[in-house]
Amino acid sequence: MKVLVLNSGSSSVKFQLFECDGGNEVLAKGVAERIGLEEPELSCSCPRKPKGTCDLVDPHPDIADHQAAIDVICRYLLSKECGVIRDLSELAGIGHRVVHGGERFTGSVLINDEVVHGIEECARLAPLHNPPALLGIRACSKIFANIPQVAVFDTAFYHTIPPECYMYGIPIDIYRKHQVRKYGFHGTSHMYVSQEAAKMLDKDPADTRIITCHLGNGSSITAVKGGTAVATSMGLTPLGGVMMGTRPGDLDPYVPIFMQRELGMSIDEVDRTLNKESGLKGICGRTDMRDVEEGAEAGDANCQLALKMFTYRISKYVGMYSMVLGGVDAIVFTAGIGENSPTVRARVIERAGYLGVAIDAEKNARNERDISTADAKVSVLVVPTNEELVIARETARLVDAPGA
Ligand code: ADP
Repeated sequence: MKVLVLNSGSSSVKFQLFECDGGNEVLAKGVAERIGLEEPELSCSCPRKPKGTCDLVDPHPDIADHQAAIDVICRYLLSKECGVIRDLSELAGIGHRVVHGGERFTGSVLINDEVVHGIEECARLAPLHNPPALLGIRACSKIFANIPQVAVFDTAFYHTIPPECYMYGIPIDIYRKHQVRKYGFHGTSHMYVSQEAAKMLDKDPADTRIITCHLGNGSSITAVKGGTAVATSMGLTPLGGVMMGTRPGDLDPYVPIFMQRELGMSIDEVDRTLNKESGLKGICGRTDMRDVEEGAEAGDANCQLALKMFTYRISKYVGMYSMVLGGVDAIVFTAGIGENSPTVRARVIERAGYLGVAIDAEKNARNERDISTADAKVSVLVVPTNEELVIARETARLVDAPGA
């Protein structure tokens, strides 16, 4: 069963084509970038073919909008060089990553008009993220009229967190009438790596207490007890929680009011400042953790401060969540920074000795999967995330279900 997974952003569409049999093999993957901008580009590859034989980097395709991008991706999949499908009807389903499912979507769903309407309604909670997913869904409805589509929500893994965690201490009617509460994001990633971690611990997920740290351009920390999420760092939107590449994470709620009242900033300026100009970038002018680490190493005081702030805040959440879980069996690092930065992992963990955490410096330097020392009471694991695989599995499950 072949499943196409799409992750549509405002100016990009990432795709992976899976063969969803037992092995869940990736047949082709790539990204259309700079959609609707100057010099759009499509880059693709087929992982199971000899390296380079069907790689494509096409700098000037005609990619004016999301539909054009998905058209170009289909042409690549059908091309002689790639040749992974001969006809679009071979696709059993299309899975979409949708960031915000609000309170309505507590799991993945087959897409119909009502679901599209529901995702539209959730867009007011994720104005940067849900509209591009809708563009991808609408484009696919035109291109693949008879192929079922599935929405997999970043927020769904968090439908189990309890009210004392998800409620904000603001007048309750603002929650009741407008659903202003914590939702959490990156749920697909946290779910996947916590399940992988349980396998590595050789335990039933029901018997585990795991803290997962997804550290990429956006970062979040989740506490997973018995296989379900019980707390997470992000909130109503992906601005809250730990500090990120361009987002501040948790702030005194008066800070945006101060920006408007005292600094004369408009709501749009505050929005932009908090979404695009804060976090690592706001402190040291660099968003890429490799650049921040390089700057810190070279003695740049702002890069050193940014690195300290980044890791301090993560370790604060690890401390909080070990209490929320009543103990911890494993701390998991994933995503671009979590999987690749020994420096960040070591700094996050350096205060956690009291929990029984100890990492082996050499294993950490080599980005090994289990970086704890042999006698550590708590495992520290590096688990590559794979959100696309989860979306492919969910899509295969739903299109295969009776009545689909
Ligand atoms: P996204 O949230 O966009 O999916 P990723 O999970 O790909 O992001 O993570 C991107 C981040 O990972 C960037 O900040 C990048 O600097 C960081 N990263 C990638 N490789 C390394 C590395 N070797 N050392 C430190 N940081 C790294």
